[in-house]
Amino acid sequence: MAINLQTPEVEIRENRLNSVLSYQGSAKDLCAKSAQRLLPCRDNSFNQCGDCSAQRAFLHIAQIRDTAVVNHGPIGCAGDFAIFNAQFRGGCRSKGYPVENIRALSTNLQERDTVYGGGEKLAETIREAYRRFHPKAIFVNTSCASGIIGDDIDGVVDAAEKELGIPIVPIYCEGFKSQVWTTGFDAAFHGILRKIVKPPKEKRADLITIFNFVNEDVFTPLLAKIGLKAKCLVVHSSIEELERISEAAATSHICETLGTYIAKGLEQEYGVPEIKSPPPFGFAWTDAWLREIGKITHKEKEVEALIQSEREHVEQELAELRKKLEGKTAYIVAGASFGHSILSMARDLGIEVVGITGFHHDQRFDNEDDRINSLKNAITCAGDIQNYHVCNKQPYQLINIIRALKPDLLLARHDNMVILGTKLGIPSVYVDDANLAVGYAGVINTGRKIIQVMQTKNFIKNIAKHVKFPYTDWWYQQDPFAFQRGELGE
Ligand code: SF4
Repeated sequence: MAINLQTPEVEIRENRLNSVLSYQGSAKDLCAKSAQRLLPCRDNSFNQCGDCSAQRAFLHIAQIRDTAVVNHGPIGCAGDFAIFNAQFRGGCRSKGYPVENIRALSTNLQERDTVYGGGEKLAETIREAYRRFHPKAIFVNTSCASGIIGDDIDGVVDAAEKELGIPIVPIYCEGFKSQVWTTGFDAAFHGILRKIVKPPKEKRADLITIFNFVNEDVFTPLLAKIGLKAKCLVVHSSIEELERISEAAATSHICETLGTYIAKGLEQEYGVPEIKSPPPFGFAWTDAWLREIGKITHKEKEVEALIQSEREHVEQELAELRKKLEGKTAYIVAGASFGHSILSMARDLGIEVVGITGFHHDQRFDNEDDRINSLKNAITCAGDIQNYHVCNKQPYQLINIIRALKPDLLLARHDNMVILGTKLGIPSVYVDDANLAVGYAGVINTGRKIIQVMQTKNFIKNIAKHVKFPYTDWWYQQDPFAFQRGELGE
C-alpha cells in the first residue's frame, strides 16, 4: 500500500490501517479477523477520557533542536507545551546539548477568530516565530478549531515560505479527525517526509536510522560492536540530520505503532530498506533484528559473533532473575505494538502473561510484510494470549479487566496506567525508557526493575486500602465491554 505524499494531509489510521479501538477475545482470534480486516472501527458509545493526535505530533516536531512550532488553535491546545519542554530540557542535558526550551508559540484563537478566520493571526505568528528563534524550519500544527473554521493553512504557509525562505511545514493533526491518537505520529512524519527530507547526496552504508522517543541512546554502543553507526531520531535531532535520512543504509524503529509510516515512506521514496523484523526487545527478537541488519549491511558473521557474546554476557544474571520471578503472573497495558515487546521480555524472564490491553490495534501495517506483523510475532513468541483486549485507556473498563484477572504485576508503558495499577494494590512497573529495555541487556534491566517494584508490595497494598474508586458494586459485576456491545444502552 503506497503512501501518498502529494496530499498535505496524512490518511488517518482508521482508513489506512483499518485500526480499531475496542476488542475483547484472544490474540489468535484478533489476528485471524485482522487478516481479513473484519473488525470495524466503531465509535465508543462514550469515552471517560481521551487523548489527542495533535499532542503526538507535537511531541516529535517540537523537540527537533533548531526548529519552531506554531500551534494554530486556542490556548488550551498548548497545554502540552510544558510537558514536552521539561522532557526536551532533560534530554538536552543527558545528551550533552545546550539546555534550551522548546520554541513553540500558539496563535491563541479566540471566539472572534472562529467567525472572521484565523489566517492573519497565523501569518503573524509564523513571522513572530521566525523573528524570535531564527529556526531552520517552522512546523504549523493544526487544531480542532482551525479545522472546523476551515482556515486556508496551505495558502498562509506557502506565502510565509516565500517570504521567509525556510521550509514551513503544515501538520494536519486536528484532534477530532482521528479517534486513534497515534495518527499524530503519522501526521508529523508525513510533514517531515514531504518538506524536510531531501534526496540522498551520498549513501552511508554503515548508518542505521532508528526512530524512537526521548530516550538513552543504547543503539550506538551496540551497533558500534559490528562497525555500524546508529542515529536516533526525531527527538533532539537537527533539521540537517533529518534532511539526510534518505542516505542511511536502513531504517528501524522501536515500535511498529511509532515508526512504520516513516519507514515505509523512506523505502518508497528513496529505497532505504526498513528492517523487517520484530523490534529488539527480548532475546529472540533481538537476534532476528540484528540478523536482518547483518543481511542488509553484509555483516552476517559479525552479527553472529555479537549475538553469542552478548547472550553469554547476561546468561548468569538472566538465570538468577528467572529464579526470582518464577511463578509470577503479569498483565500488560501499553500502546498497541509496544505491549507485544513487553510480552517478549516478560517471557524471557519466565513471567506468565495472563493478558494484554493495547490502546488500539492496527489490522494492517504500512509495509505489508508479515515479519513486522506485531501481533503475529507476539503469538509466535508466547502462543495464544487469552484475555486480549483493545481499549483506549478507559479506566472504568481496565479496572474490571484487571480486578478479574488478579495478576501479581502490572507492566505498563504509560505512567497513568501505573497509577491505576497501584491504586488497585498491584505492583506496577513503568516501562518508561523503552531504549533501556532494548537488546539482551534490556531484558536484564527490565527484570531488575520488576524485582525492585515487587519489593514495594506491602507499601502498594497499603496505598490501595486508602483508595476509593467512583464505581458502584453493580459496575464491578458487569462485563467491561458491555457498553461497547450495546448491552447496557447508551
Ligand atoms: S486539537 Fe482538539 S482534541 Fe486536541 S487539544 Fe485541541 S481541542 Fe483538544
